[in-house]
Amino acid sequence: MTNVAYKEAAYLFQPAPIPTLPIRGVNRVFPVHRIYCVGRNYAEHAKEMGHDPSREPPFFFQKNPDTLVPGGGEFPYPSKSKDVHHEFEMVVALSGGGSDIPVERALDCVYGYAVGLDMTRRDLQNEAKKMGRPWEIGKAFEFAAPCSEIVPASAIGHPSKGAVWLKVNGTTRQQGDLSQLIWAVPEMISYLSGLFALRPGDLIFSGTPAGVSAVMPGDVLQGGVNGIGEITVKVV
Ligand code: MN
Repeated sequence: MTNVAYKEAAYLFQPAPIPTLPIRGVNRVFPVHRIYCVGRNYAEHAKEMGHDPSREPPFFFQKNPDTLVPGGGEFPYPSKSKDVHHEFEMVVALSGGGSDIPVERALDCVYGYAVGLDMTRRDLQNEAKKMGRPWEIGKAFEFAAPCSEIVPASAIGHPSKGAVWLKVNGTTRQQGDLSQLIWAVPEMISYLSGLFALRPGDLIFSGTPAGVSAVMPGDVLQGGVNGIGEITVKVV
């Protein structure tokens, strides 16, 4: 079979549906391509994880798009871990893309913003770090990416400040401000586009402020970024 014929052949089975997120005030859904996550993007969180918060180049990992929990809701406590942490983050949603995007043009790629949780099997991540292994088992498990609806930038602009907060069972656990991002949104997009070809549908989890800690079944996580939105997640 030639390449052309192979591309025209029918699927062997029904492909998995494209993951989507709701969009506030828009009667269409946002089809998700990839999920990129920025590591250590708030100085206080870098310190609490035992790292130097100086402005070293940003680093990234990915979560699988089908680990999204669209709009929040229930987060089933994952297998093989006794130390699952919340990392509450602002999320950037792209409707443009490309490679080697200059900082000055990076915001042209942004459709809007959301808020999400980079749920982490911390014990498995720490073990992987220690052994120099990849992070997927700590970061890319089922339901690992609860994410709110997307709010279009056409409605709220491109926020560069605003409180970032997470409450667990009503008690504040994480607190920060978008102005404290070590790598601001245009910088992270520009840098990331040098490593990967960014595409419409990509999401970028922008990093978490200090205060990450363990969750237990029954916990209710409520997080928000002032000026963007909120999400509520229950650990089950
Ligand atoms: Mn994170």
